[in-house]
Amino acid sequence: MPTSSPTALALTLDSVTKRFRNGVVAVNAVSLSLGTGVLALLGPNGAGKSTLMQMIATITRPTSGRIFFDGVDSASEPDRVRRALGYLPQDFGVYDGLTASQFLTYFAALKGVHSRAKIVEMLELVNLHTVSDRAVGGFSGGMKQRLGIAQALINDPALLIVDEPTAGLAPEERLRFRNILSDIGFERLVILSTHIVSDIESIATEIAV
Ligand code: ADP
Repeated sequence: MPTSSPTALALTLDSVTKRFRNGVVAVNAVSLSLGTGVLALLGPNGAGKSTLMQMIATITRPTSGRIFFDGVDSASEPDRVRRALGYLPQDFGVYDGLTASQFLTYFAALKGVHSRAKIVEMLELVNLHTVSDRAVGGFSGGMKQRLGIAQALINDPALLIVDEPTAGLAPEERLRFRNILSDIGFERLVILSTHIVSDIESIATEIAV
């Protein structure tokens, strides 16, 4: 976790570009400066939202330009950014044989979280506590998505990046997710992508198109 106060929290992108080997420029010279709150990335498929999020999440590196989180250069110290990070990729996969509880315990351990209470709290937050002992292979798409949201939040991330988090969620779960995000957005930076305009109206404090 960053040692500075939440008010100092900032993400800065300085002319960030990603050009793939096939010549596709997915992200072209993006500069942004963000504090706490919820930033929604709005754009059609192929606009470069996932690529931008992957770079901020230190999954892939920019071809040029720099990214700073909380004063840390993410290219030179990616591990420091990762400690503060929660990330839900678009193609989030689960291990079918594990129960929801085992799955979260595994992700918590990867992130250095060893609190049983935290796992129960997360399962309740995403409304999976009643099925915590069922194998996730039998879960619906929406349930898997909620498990993905739970793993992204389990380390109390200062920087939460969620790629199409409401895709596949039923309306009441979408509402629950919006409420979770607007509650936590005050003390951290949340970046989400969506193509659903009502998500943005109700959650985002800033929008990048
Ligand atoms: P979005 O998330 O907005 O749908 P993406 O970031 O997934 O957009 O993709 C942006 C562009 O980059 C698209 O044209 C896509 O085909 C291309 N792209 C994404 N990943 C790769 C890759 N690994 N190699 C080559 N091109 C890619």
